[in-house]
Amino acid sequence: MNFYNLKENDEQVSFAGAVKQGLGKNQGLFFPREIPKFDNIDQLLSMPLVERSVKILHPFVAADLSEKQLTAIVTSAFNFPAQLQPISENRAILELFHGPTLAFKDFGARFMAKCLQAFTTDKQITILTATSGDTGAAVAHAFHGIDNIRVVIMYPKGKISLLQEKMFTTLGSNIETLAVDGTFDDCQALVKQSFNDKELAQTIGLNSANSINISRLLAQICYYFEAVAQLSRQKSIGKLGDIVFSVPSGNFGNLTAGLFAKAMGLPIKRFVAATNANDTVPRYLSTGEWSPNETVATISNAMDVSNPNNWPRVEHMLKSGIVDKDCVTSVSIDEEQTQSTVLQLNKLGYISEPHAAVAYKALQYNTTEDEFGVFLGTAHPAKFKEVVESILGQPLGLPKELADCAGEPILSQDLAADFGLLREYLLAKN
Ligand SMILES: *Cc1c(COP(=O)(O)O)cnc(C)c1O
Repeated sequence: MNFYNLKENDEQVSFAGAVKQGLGKNQGLFFPREIPKFDNIDQLLSMPLVERSVKILHPFVAADLSEKQLTAIVTSAFNFPAQLQPISENRAILELFHGPTLAFKDFGARFMAKCLQAFTTDKQITILTATSGDTGAAVAHAFHGIDNIRVVIMYPKGKISLLQEKMFTTLGSNIETLAVDGTFDDCQALVKQSFNDKELAQTIGLNSANSINISRLLAQICYYFEAVAQLSRQKSIGKLGDIVFSVPSGNFGNLTAGLFAKAMGLPIKRFVAATNANDTVPRYLSTGEWSPNETVATISNAMDVSNPNNWPRVEHMLKSGIVDKDCVTSVSIDEEQTQSTVLQLNKLGYISEPHAAVAYKALQYNTTEDEFGVFLGTAHPAKFKEVVESILGQPLGLPKELADCAGEPILSQDLAADFGLLREYLLAKN
């Protein structure tokens, strides 16, 4: 199957091309030419995660990967579970944080890394990415130790938590980290400048690993199927037609993957796109006006995005009829409600964190009696230890993944927010 550029429709590339290129001409996003539809969903749901995921992904990648290659990739990428935990009679959380960096981004980043590895010949490529936290860790761990792929991660010095920093700056070997004297926006601007410098990009084989890369989204389709598979095995739940997913959203990659799953035939009734105070999408859906405000900082900081880069894909699916145009509603949850929801979930016996709490609260506003709400647990509560401890007034333990890196030295180099210096750095070490 080919993928075409949503802005410049004539540009078409294979899966391998889309993975290697990331973005199309004129910053257009790649989108599959067709979306495969499964008739026998029950049979698909009865399979184990890896086998089922191969069936789901194969039509998208068949031109570039054999079923055998894809099986090897999926087996090593999805080597941790997605777990559905019941919260109450009509609510469950899909825990997506059991991977090496304790966030759902492990699914997409690990799949992308293995695909890129399969498509990379002897010429070295350089992954340059900016992070405010979770992406850096997922990308660093996913690409660690892969030959011929050099990873350079920039982050704003002193502006992320020490544990977050330790998770990706302590690995070494092909993972280089730069503590930039500036903000996250400065880091992103440096990435953009690097991509605009054609000579630099060519010399070091530049690539990015952010969630505009279609491979990350395709991987994420698989856990929506896994959630419904687990639900359908729980005998107490009889009404699969009424499943509603609530997705804590920042760049809207996760929601995009959910819409793909629905378009492929998975019985999901509709989606709630839950945001924090960065409410560009909920305002857009109610007024029809796209008017991003200045980004505001919240305790669900992985969703502090005011201009979500995957929205054109969502919009395309809603407008072209790939999914029903009414199947997405969007709700913004403020800080006070987020905190009180962390407490409320704790009373139900579940320790959550701000992103999942936003999604749970959005469900409470938005579902009817006969709907079953699944909200996505995108990060482990310990990743937001300080906030969760201060809301709950009780200490949280550290899972092994965080405890292991907490004592390791940070290997980052400092860098002024200056493109000339970054360019020198990238070329010197190449
Ligand atoms: C990245 C992230 C999100 C937002 O996901 P999108 O796909 O960008 O909408 C939500 N929660 C956590 C914990 C994240 O790291």
